[in-house]
Amino acid sequence: MVKAMHLRDMEGALLRRGGRIKSDDGIHTKWICPCGRHSTNLPRHKTMSPGVVRSTISRMSCLPKGWLQ
Ligand SMILES: [Zn+2]
Repeated sequence: MVKAMHLRDMEGALLRRGGRIKSDDGIHTKWICPCGRHSTNLPRHKTMSPGVVRSTISRMSCLPKGWLQ
């Protein structure tokens, strides 16, 4: 069961796994994975809903299972 997370915790997990910010000038922050083939958009909210967490896990599909939760 995926749980809501604080944005800063999700950003920390992405950085630890080699993710980086690709663009940060819209309503979302676009992150790119370490392999460069996957990306995800994070809304500028303090809390990421379970739906955003689930979508991030599924979009960053090259990261190992359990990397975020
Ligand atoms: Zn990737």
